[in-house]
Amino acid sequence: MDEIKTKCLIIGSGPAGFTAAIYASRANLSPLMYEGHQPGGQLTTTTEVENFPGYPDGTTGPELMEDFRNQAVKFGAEIKDGLVTEVDFSKRPFVAKTSDGNIVYADTIIISTGATARYLGLDDEKKYMGLGVSACATCDGFFYRGKRVAVVGGGDTACEEALYLSNIAADVFLIVRKDYLRASKVMQRRVLDKANINVLFNTNTVGLYGDDALEGAHLVEGLGTDNEQRFDLPVDGFFLAIGHTPNTAVFTPAIEVDEAGYIKTQGDTTATNIPGVFAAGDVADPRYRQAITAAGMGCKAALDVERFLAESE
Ligand code: NDP
Repeated sequence: MDEIKTKCLIIGSGPAGFTAAIYASRANLSPLMYEGHQPGGQLTTTTEVENFPGYPDGTTGPELMEDFRNQAVKFGAEIKDGLVTEVDFSKRPFVAKTSDGNIVYADTIIISTGATARYLGLDDEKKYMGLGVSACATCDGFFYRGKRVAVVGGGDTACEEALYLSNIAADVFLIVRKDYLRASKVMQRRVLDKANINVLFNTNTVGLYGDDALEGAHLVEGLGTDNEQRFDLPVDGFFLAIGHTPNTAVFTPAIEVDEAGYIKTQGDTTATNIPGVFAAGDVADPRYRQAITAAGMGCKAALDVERFLAESE
């Protein structure tokens, strides 16, 4: 067991965490990052990335995150494989325990643990992951130009994803388990008015099929009722949009979160309710959830840390 002191502990290694690490190391703060259970974050589960500025020929999620990582290491960020399992926010320096048995004393903390897309829990989702199954229309929608896709969910995210895909794909099927959409009225209207979006109400997905890649979904209308109807929907893409869970379990209840579980930040800054603790990326962003916006928040968090340390000295 080591006891480590750092001016800035960064928890999580997606675009937000790495950008914070680049800025903090260039500001001579020698940040220490714990990468978390999915080094590189959600982007490592996507294939091609074509919307990150600076890559005119596109790149892949894993390559992009490797570039982020190398840039952070180049400027002196220390990156450790492992999880932060416990944090005592009650006094400064904050005390964090880690899965590799270390105790970290940190003057400031940047939480960039991201959010995890929810899945239905079907084995088939894992089987066709990257082969037709995705939880991010903005990341992967482009690959379904002129094709048939399904989106699962009835909230604002599902409606947004369906609308986004409707401008790319030939046909979009929105699979909604209830007989109504939970999304805001304006989003509902847009979806219902769009000619190539077909909403399948009262419908659940019970499986996916396809030889090598996804070819369709096994659906049930009226699941559990006397009128249960099983049918197959041929689709090339199957997008999950049933919500995200921000990864905050280690930090709550000390860190304040909103009703959906996202860390609350103050005004235009990345400051949380605890002075010296900042949050960046999807863990604090229910709205945009893009690599580039997360990177922007990571930059802001590092600048907020710098300012905070300068003011406390
Ligand atoms: P929500 O929790 O609002 O909606 C999740 C949807 O997925 C619901 O329709 C839910 O169905 C459905 N669902 C959940 N689990 C399953 C399952 N196992 N099988 C089938 N369907 C399932 O999540 P969102 O991500 O849509 O939104 C999160 C928050 O972010 C909301 O407050 C939303 O308003 C906000 N948001 C705002 C946007 C904007 O303002 N532009 C854009 C996107 C999100 P059911 O209704 O039956 O529970």
